[in-house]
Amino acid sequence: MNGTIFNIEHYAIHDGPGIRTTIFFKGCPLACLWCHNPEGLSVKPQIVYYRQRCVGCKKCVSLCTAGALSPRDGGISFDAGKCRLCGRCAESCPAEALEKVGRSVTAAEVIAEAEKDRIFYEESGGGVTFSGGEPFLQADFLRECLTLAKTRGLHTAVETSGFAPREAVEKAAPYVDLFLFDVKHIRAAEHRKYTGADNAPIKANLRRLSELGKEIVLRMVVIPNVNDDKEALEELCCFLRDETSVRTVNLLPLHKSASEKYRRLGREFAIEDFETPDDERMAAAARLFAEYGFRMLIDGQ
Ligand code: SF4
Ligand code: SF4
Repeated sequence: MNGTIFNIEHYAIHDGPGIRTTIFFKGCPLACLWCHNPEGLSVKPQIVYYRQRCVGCKKCVSLCTAGALSPRDGGISFDAGKCRLCGRCAESCPAEALEKVGRSVTAAEVIAEAEKDRIFYEESGGGVTFSGGEPFLQADFLRECLTLAKTRGLHTAVETSGFAPREAVEKAAPYVDLFLFDVKHIRAAEHRKYTGADNAPIKANLRRLSELGKEIVLRMVVIPNVNDDKEALEELCCFLRDETSVRTVNLLPLHKSASEKYRRLGREFAIEDFETPDDERMAAAARLFAEYGFRMLIDGQ
């Protein structure tokens, strides 16, 4: 079986215990305004253009038989609607100003790549993490990667928003050692406003994984005046304490370093006006979770 990924990161240290290899699956059913990996939103591969690298040679324009590229202002303009994703322009650009993001791979290829880091896993207690995008959007491919990883004796983690069919989550769960469960907002209306989706299935999956006895670390990006008011955090704490087995919470500060990625993809960066939390604000949120008895991890994203 083939799946589509957009990156493999070696020596990752924020995606679960120890030193890890993180596999980024392409495609996500949510549309969080603060998504840090917009290149992972579409399940299809994409062409990305780096204007500042382009030397205006027009080689790509003459190669593109689909008519998706044309000269413009000393560089090129790209029409995604006409692009057939053949990748020839990116392969031949002398300035690496075009990149095809996303490639089709087999589960065996993914695990073979992860196994190159086995020595680091053994020394650090690490393993392989499946992230995205949303890995459950390619649920069958994810399960194949997970079962293969377990047959090779690797520790497995899945970073998920939990917005996935219950059946897919249940089928994958036996092969997952750790869930990194990203919660965006506990309240339904706000969740819909900022992610475009209902959070009821997310809460149901979190409850179900708790019933199954899975190890879960809850992760949340702290965004001032969006999801860090005291009432919302207390509501989240009560839900976690009363309805789930989550005991560890990892708070991450919002940052805006993805703005350049949005520009390259021709997407609007909708959080320009959002505040980033200072240390005091992060500490206040962490204190509140700690008062409810959660073990806290505070990390950069
Ligand atoms: S081939 Fe590369 S450098 Fe030349 S015009 Fe196209 S994008 Fe720019
Ligand atoms: S990927 Fe292929 S079709 Fe798309 S712009 Fe490049 S050369 Fe044209």
